[in-house]
Amino acid sequence: MSRARLLEGGPLAEEIRRAVAEDVASFMARRGRPPALRVVIVGRDAPSAVYLERILRGCAKVGIDAGFVELEGEATEASVVAAVRELNEDPAVDGVIVQMPLPPAIRLRAIVDAIDPAKDIDGIHPLNAGLLRLGYDGFLPATAHAAIEILRRSGIEIEGRDAVVIGRSAVVGMPAAFLLVQEDATVTVCHSRTRDLAAHVARADIVVVAAGHPGLVTGAMLKPGAVVVDVGINVVDGHIVGDVDFATAVEVASAITPVPGGVGPLTNAILLTHLIRAAERQAPTDPLATPARPVLSGGDR
Ligand code: NAD
Repeated sequence: MSRARLLEGGPLAEEIRRAVAEDVASFMARRGRPPALRVVIVGRDAPSAVYLERILRGCAKVGIDAGFVELEGEATEASVVAAVRELNEDPAVDGVIVQMPLPPAIRLRAIVDAIDPAKDIDGIHPLNAGLLRLGYDGFLPATAHAAIEILRRSGIEIEGRDAVVIGRSAVVGMPAAFLLVQEDATVTVCHSRTRDLAAHVARADIVVVAAGHPGLVTGAMLKPGAVVVDVGINVVDGHIVGDVDFATAVEVASAITPVPGGVGPLTNAILLTHLIRAAERQAPTDPLATPARPVLSGGDR
């Protein structure tokens, strides 16, 4: 078997960024200000500071007004909620992200619930999760969106194929599974209690891995010709690796996303498209003019 085609996120992200830059210019011309993103960050440990820098730089490149609100690591849940509410109420802010992970003393649910669903560009609020579940047009979690978008933009056929998603988190695994169902794949969701992961993976035409376990999926487990989307980000011996054993998988798969350089870069670009949508939808002359529109066309499909 020849080596798999590499599904690289970088060039796709570039393409998306160019379109976003045009959308920003158009918004600016109509509204007199650029779309604005604010990131709430609680305590600055090294990984989130790097991630924050990356978002801010990505926004600056396309003309988005991006900034952050920093609370100290010992901040209370009430003060984080208050910071989020202040951004919700600010008409000059279009999108809000809360940098994860939060300190253990702060309940994720309290913060997630506080975000205005109209500004929730990373799709973590229950309203947006519900819209996705029903096939309506809400905000998708950017990573799950990127995992499926990389397949779509690479011309990978999804309809009718057997897909396995490994991971059932609210931000990656489950939304990726719902998106695959919307694309007419037959989807199995595997997780930490799945009895025979290898048996499920062996049947899959498409494998999306989002478990946070390096080496969880190896080439020997894959069906020859399978398409592999590796969402995992792990640091092993100072290097970033995914959840898939790339060296063996690349020999068996027909296409595979590298880590780094696959889903990651696309995630950041996709987030910018969500911000543009949020900005356009909240614009005062266009008060929710676009009703939530079903993504699925029929009844029972
Ligand atoms: P999570 O810890 O919330 O969820 C992990 C999921 O994997 C759980 O549902 C769990 O049941 C499942 N799992 C764990 N071990 C397993 C095993 N041995 N077999 C089968 N299933 C198993 O993590 P998350 O937030 O969903 O993130 C998943 C991975 O994606 C992490 O590596 C994270 O760093 C990465 N991630 C990447 C991006 C990106 O932009 N590429 C963004 C967010 C998260």
